[in-house]
Amino acid sequence: MGIFEEKLEKAETAFNFEDVILLPGFSQIEPREIDLKTSFSKNIPINIPFVSSPMDTVTESEMAIALARHGGIGVVHRNCTAEEELEMVKAVKRAESFIIRDVITINKEATVGEAAEIMRRHKISGLPVVENNRLIGIITGRDVRFTNPSIKVEEAMTRDVVVASPSVTPEEAVELMKRHRVEKLPVVDDNKRLVGLITYKDVALRGEYKEATRDSEGRLRVAAAVSPFDVDRARMLAKHADALVIDVAHFHNRNVIEATRKLVKEVDVDIVVGSLGTKQGVLDSVSRIESVSGLRIGIGSGSACITTEITRAGAPTLFAVAQAADALEELGLKIPVIADGGVRNPGDVALAIALGASCAMLGYVLAGCKESPSPMTIINGKYFKLHRGMGSQPARQKRMALDRYATLAKEIPEGTEIWVPYRGDVASVISEFTAGIRAAMGYAGASNIEELKKKGRIAKIVSRRDRSQASPSIIL
Ligand code: 5GP
Repeated sequence: MGIFEEKLEKAETAFNFEDVILLPGFSQIEPREIDLKTSFSKNIPINIPFVSSPMDTVTESEMAIALARHGGIGVVHRNCTAEEELEMVKAVKRAESFIIRDVITINKEATVGEAAEIMRRHKISGLPVVENNRLIGIITGRDVRFTNPSIKVEEAMTRDVVVASPSVTPEEAVELMKRHRVEKLPVVDDNKRLVGLITYKDVALRGEYKEATRDSEGRLRVAAAVSPFDVDRARMLAKHADALVIDVAHFHNRNVIEATRKLVKEVDVDIVVGSLGTKQGVLDSVSRIESVSGLRIGIGSGSACITTEITRAGAPTLFAVAQAADALEELGLKIPVIADGGVRNPGDVALAIALGASCAMLGYVLAGCKESPSPMTIINGKYFKLHRGMGSQPARQKRMALDRYATLAKEIPEGTEIWVPYRGDVASVISEFTAGIRAAMGYAGASNIEELKKKGRIAKIVSRRDRSQASPSIIL
């Protein structure tokens, strides 16, 4: 036997979304009764199986807020300074918290002009006035609007402030605000020390997004991408984010695994590791790192990725998911698997779940949304938004410009820039995707995600015919 036959004999069958199909099965449920609850990581349940990619054309705070409100979770990108990334995480945490903890305050000696400037900069409408951490008043947009900007806050503030105690419930807070006709309720302890702030908008919004992904304090959940070698950034982000995603192109690497092994001991949040593409990769990573809470699976299938073209190396997402599931089965562990790269439609997510994934990470699909941070353009009368690989030349250049300690691990770009069709806001894309996956689960006869994992059967597609060539459509 020659080397070719020998290697071919041992070759795996790599396949992806277009190579298999989900088979219909006996069904007893209607699509709208289907439960989409699943997990992003061990300690982070989500209500829909969609998470967003840590890419600088996909996830900043606006995307993470929108996705968490609809039951998913966003992973903010790391192609920025640590401070900028932290600010994105904090913005998500602030967005709808029941009690805001890091309250922006002012002192009584400041001027009304300064108060107005702080409110404008932080896009907020009022500031508690404190002296030695104790609440002595509140100054709101209404107070500053028609007041001489040079007078002191002390003279313009409201002194008689309606406050709540730290044990107040959302219902009691709403009741208090309605009764006193105020929109902001400072939370003070027994010593009048300011410990938080409740805003009417935030409490009211809680009712609006019933399916939102929230932490125990009612704040939206968010994850943040980090390099395994940047422990300072990881420590800083871990104080605010719900999970960290170790964001490297090839996790199955001695230095990366070693660095992550140390990093997990420094932080107290869920750690998702990736990207991984093979059974051996998962076995080695999970067995060497003490607490892996999630796996990001798939290498080289991303829409803005040219890894496979350049290197002929990669692990197609669906194949990689099956590999990860096999590894976890062998280890007897339950760790959520996130299928990442190349998802274009809800059926792709259903297939990934049928092969063992808990949820899917979306780049391409969400880059086209209103809430993505990327620029929009018009091409031939149609709207498009920019999507770029994090290994693309422009993304690499940004990273180098920001961080003079950054070194490029690779000498060649492995990503590209593409224009993706604009598809409206996250709400409409998520409703399209949840309807699509429910329909797929209806066909498969699965009433929830776990059932789809167990029951979902697939078939191999052997002949892929290009239908447009077989019977060309006529363009009138
Ligand atoms: P998409 O949903 O756009 O098809 O895939 C998104 C995924 O592509 C990301 O979550 C990430 O795993 C991967 N990715 C992002 N940037 C690059 C890149 O520059 N090169 C490669 N190989 N993969 C990338």
